[in-house]
Amino acid sequence: MHTHHHAPHPVTFEDCIRFHGHTCPGLASGYRAATAAMEALGVTRPEDEDLVAICETDACGVDAIQVIAGTTAGKVQHR
Ligand SMILES: [Zn+2]
Repeated sequence: MHTHHHAPHPVTFEDCIRFHGHTCPGLASGYRAATAAMEALGVTRPEDEDLVAICETDACGVDAIQVIAGTTAGKVQHR
């Protein structure tokens, strides 16, 4: 039986912690902001300016956003 859909790899907060090296409020807020942003954007294209704006607000949150955006956009032809 074949499954044709590729379910997006769910990025958990633990994935972000693993990538970031530690857990902190910045990472948590970045994770939540990125998750909300990706959902709002309908996922796939993290090239929205809002994401960039979020990145500038919190250094730690950037890592969370990278994990989420990178994982989600990694399978999309991004150029
Ligand atoms: Zn941190």
